[in-house]
Amino acid sequence: MSNVPVAVVTGSNKGIGFAIVRALCKQFPGDVYLTARDPGRGREAVAKLQEEGLHALFHQLDIDDLQSIRALRDFLKEKYGGLNVLVNNAGIAFKVHDTTPFAVQAEVTLKTNFFGTRNVCTELLPLVKPYGKVVNVSSMVSSSALGGCSRELQQKFRSETITEDELVELMTKFVEDTKKSVHEKEGWPNTAYGVSKIGVTVLSRIQARMLNEKRKGDHILLNACCPGWVRTDMAGPKATKSPDEGAETPVYLALLPSDADGPHGQFLSNKTVRTW
Ligand code: NAP
Repeated sequence: MSNVPVAVVTGSNKGIGFAIVRALCKQFPGDVYLTARDPGRGREAVAKLQEEGLHALFHQLDIDDLQSIRALRDFLKEKYGGLNVLVNNAGIAFKVHDTTPFAVQAEVTLKTNFFGTRNVCTELLPLVKPYGKVVNVSSMVSSSALGGCSRELQQKFRSETITEDELVELMTKFVEDTKKSVHEKEGWPNTAYGVSKIGVTVLSRIQARMLNEKRKGDHILLNACCPGWVRTDMAGPKATKSPDEGAETPVYLALLPSDADGPHGQFLSNKTVRTW
């Protein structure tokens, strides 16, 4: 078993994830895994970094597929006895003008952004070693979507005692409510992506609390962040940041020094803790 520190970035064959891997290859003192659901796209991305003189390793990972997540988990357990840095970056968004029915958009978006990310956490968080870092890439849209929720939902999403099961129930209810076209009446905002990212931010707050309760002595720091508005296939060419700039906050959180006792359980943008 290798004692080399190891970092894993989900959805990193392109966009912000790719830029995070690039930065980690330069700054992280260990093995950096670029992961992709499609091995062809993943290996092509690794080769692109190789041309820049950077050495990333590849492992397949489709966060929608529990078997794929578990295969990565078993690989990390066997080869490294765990992992040191996990960046949950993989995500999807329908384009604004997409005509796919809203209920379908809700189900598909939540499936990857919330439930897929949660499944990765369920399988990989127990493997994170002491002084490890976990970064969940959310979005400022989670804050604006929170503002668009009913007061009752806002209270639940800001609660310091909400459990993961309760959050899963709420995310499931959103999808069900869209199918019955009652989501607005039930206090939800009209954005599937926004609700999925509320899920990611709140999940991060819950996971950080659980780490405090169950693994306090391990000094693991777990946070959610927004990369900013970044020129990728998701956000388009008009966005203000380059992918390397978008990677800055996630990389800052992934590389917090071992003597740092925070941030933890926070939501950050531009390396600054934001009020949730
Ligand atoms: P992107 O260019 O569309 O890249 C998304 C990445 O996620 C791709 O590598 C994609 O793989 C991967 N992915 C999607 N579904 C996956 C799955 N089921 N399993 C594994 N990988 C999967 O988007 P981006 O702009 O870099 O976004 C990265 C993250 O930042 C997302 O979580 C996004 O919500 C967040 N974000 C972006 C912005 C922005 O302005 N760009 C702003 C706020 C937050 P494929 O190539 O196979 O599709």
